[in-house]
Amino acid sequence: MANYELRIAHLYGNLMNTYGDNGNLLMLQYIAKKMGVTSHTEIVSIHEPFEAEKYDLVFFGGGQDFEQMIISKDIQEKKESLTHYIENDGVVLAICGGYQLLGHYYMDANGEKIQGIGALDHYTLSQENNRFIGDIVIHNEEFNETYYGFENHNGRTFLGEGERPLGKIVKGQGNNGEDQSEGVIYRNVYGSYFHGPILARNEHLAERLVRLALEKRYGKELDLPTVAAAPIK
Ligand code: GLN
Repeated sequence: MANYELRIAHLYGNLMNTYGDNGNLLMLQYIAKKMGVTSHTEIVSIHEPFEAEKYDLVFFGGGQDFEQMIISKDIQEKKESLTHYIENDGVVLAICGGYQLLGHYYMDANGEKIQGIGALDHYTLSQENNRFIGDIVIHNEEFNETYYGFENHNGRTFLGEGERPLGKIVKGQGNNGEDQSEGVIYRNVYGSYFHGPILARNEHLAERLVRLALEKRYGKELDLPTVAAAPIK
């Protein structure tokens, strides 16, 4: 079997990790290992440049409004390189606060506008005295896959140009509680409000991301076993 390598950037990994989102990173590493792929992970945080050519996969976890405010300033310095990475079909998994910051802006629970980088065309509004909290199930028709998780967010996100949802709501609130959409797919960027963490219950999604990242680097004809277990309902 070929000897593949997966280079992961954990964007603001020391600041953005609500509700165990770092578990996604462990899942990516676990799937890579099951496939016989060597993985390396590096945190890229405040005051550090994001060097797009060094990574095959970027993971950006969720955070609370306070951390998001701090990161909102720093991430403007990385806007150009992150946008370049995304437009070049780099693979990204962004959860909740990370997902919000890849879009135009997030109105936080106090009505403050937290600027994103606008690499994706969505924006996020707040809601008064309410959060979307609870179990969530979505279905992705394109892949014919169902994803199970738990959501906990104030933000209500509305997708824009070139964006399609990660899935259609079967149960729960999703992006905004209105249009039955949850999360986003744009090029090779996957965004979601699922915590839990999303990849722990949805191994098929973890495998999809690892494969995408390896295909991007090594080409479509990968010599790799299928490893994902069924989703945990
Ligand atoms: N602060 C954001 C919200 O409440 C994101 C929270 C999160 O990442 N869980 O919408």
